[in-house]
Amino acid sequence: MTVQQPKRRPLSRYLKDFKHTQTHCAHCGKLLDRITLTRDGEIVNKATIAQLDTPIDEATWLTEQQEWMALCRFCGDLHCKEQGNYFDIIGFKQFLFEQTDMSHGTIREYVVRLRRLGNHLVAQNIPRPDSLEALLDDSLEAWLPATSTNNYRIALRKYWQFQTQIANPVIAQQENKATSDIY
Ligand SMILES: [Zn+2]
Repeated sequence: MTVQQPKRRPLSRYLKDFKHTQTHCAHCGKLLDRITLTRDGEIVNKATIAQLDTPIDEATWLTEQQEWMALCRFCGDLHCKEQGNYFDIIGFKQFLFEQTDMSHGTIREYVVRLRRLGNHLVAQNIPRPDSLEALLDDSLEAWLPATSTNNYRIALRKYWQFQTQIANPVIAQQENKATSDIY
């Protein structure tokens, strides 16, 4: 009597099926249009996936699958390329999604602003603020970009709320309710 071997398929096949079953971004919940697959937090591109031809069985795949995520392009970019920004961009984005009722478009606008501001500050070698107060007082004010300064100020204030939320959740929640619009 022969023992039935579990059926094996290349990992790339499982991934292809996996990709097709994912409808919403694993991070922000947005309906997926273009999908970015990540493994253990790193983007894995199509060409690499095509080369993953190790035959595995269903049980192995179920374990492997836990390492994989389907993200929208926006989240994929943020999670895999923004680790070293001046600000905690990823945490900020999560905060906006989870703690405010802002639309995707508004959140994107805030995140883009803060990212730009972060790059601007890094380019000028401005040290990171060492306290919550320093985010809002004059220490960064002098370094804000000359154009759209007020927009950056607004993004910075929202970031301050996010940082305050980490330090003191109750106070921050009241702040959010008062200023949940972008302007
Ligand atoms: Zn997303």
